Amino acid sequence: MSISNEVRIAVMPGDGIGEEIMAPCLELVNQAAGQAGGFSLGYDHIEAGAGLYLRTGEDLPKSALEGARAADAILLGAMGLPDVRYPDGREIVPQIDIREELDLYAGIRPVPTFPGLPVPLADPRAQNLDLILIRESTEGLFAERTKPQEHDDMGVDKMIVTRPASERLFKFAFKLTERRKQQGKEGRLTCVDKANVLGSMAFFRSVFDEIAADYPEITADHCYVDAMALKLIRNPWDNDVLVTENMFGDILSDAGAALMGGMGMAPSADIGDDNAVFQPCHGTAPDIAGTGKANPSAMILSAAMMLDWLGDTMDSDAMRDAGRMLDAAVLAAFSTGDLVPYEMGGNAGLKPITDRVSAMLKKVS
Ligand code: ATP
Repeated sequence: MSISNEVRIAVMPGDGIGEEIMAPCLELVNQAAGQAGGFSLGYDHIEAGAGLYLRTGEDLPKSALEGARAADAILLGAMGLPDVRYPDGREIVPQIDIREELDLYAGIRPVPTFPGLPVPLADPRAQNLDLILIRESTEGLFAERTKPQEHDDMGVDKMIVTRPASERLFKFAFKLTERRKQQGKEGRLTCVDKANVLGSMAFFRSVFDEIAADYPEITADHCYVDAMALKLIRNPWDNDVLVTENMFGDILSDAGAALMGGMGMAPSADIGDDNAVFQPCHGTAPDIAGTGKANPSAMILSAAMMLDWLGDTMDSDAMRDAGRMLDAAVLAAFSTGDLVPYEMGGNAGLKPITDRVSAMLKKVS
């Protein structure tokens, strides 16, 4: 915290619907903070993304990165536009650069479902999902993504799995699972890998088993990534916390978002030892930008995760309470079944959803 009881948040709205969902989200965060009392939030607005690249030739200036690094937490909208690319054709993805620069190694992708909203699976158990996927975010198959290709006649990407990165990831995952168990949840951590085929993944699993020995009260098990793809469709409710490497996590987290019925419902956090970024899983959705159809829920739920994380980091019950209230308000907003986002076939967009969450927030304590 910079000055007494003021938490500094770096706000990076980004591009497309990122900009549209950020403003109402901040209003709701302020409302929740006001209701919880005892702390205040100050925002440093930081420009980064494809729009900035178009205008200036830079998508993440050094000053933006340093501003983000200095903040207590970073709230990010969405970045990148399909037609704006580096000269070599790669997409503008400063959010990945931020992850790497700030060493945000644990990508948390919760998969909750919301009673009242349509979900793709017919089984009633799919209405009450509450699992979390943790994605390693600094190495794995993305480790050398920016390295130029060295051959004319083939493309190569290496899966890199190191002991230090794996140990800190698993320790984080076991602690998170422990916390969930204390909240009355199952307390089971599943290592998702491909240890039957890839040496890097067999190593990943062996480090997982070593760390598991330090957490005897947590049930630790394994699942191959292909089997997990099947399980997420057939019986996702039989999962508690999953931990996996970078690329597998990238793919499975989109499957998770699908289970929730829409990208606009899926929040995320990328956590490191000194910094953390909170952002919706979805991209900038240029197809609906400016139409008022964006669903701000994932952005709001990401902000709730931020408040919860700040509460833990700064040992503040008020911040944890603010996060819990915001989360509960989103759940309550959809519970009556008459507020269905456009992306799920309904007719609720940015404003009606924000207004309903705000009204529900007033009622939760
Ligand atoms: P990226 O390529 O970075 O993933 P994207 O926006 O093209 O970005 P997704 O985020 O996967 O891809 O979104 C796919 C589609 O889902 C969007 O084009 C949009 O139609 C819809 N969508 C995504 N987020 C939302 C949202 N918050 N509200 C409503 N619809 C959304």
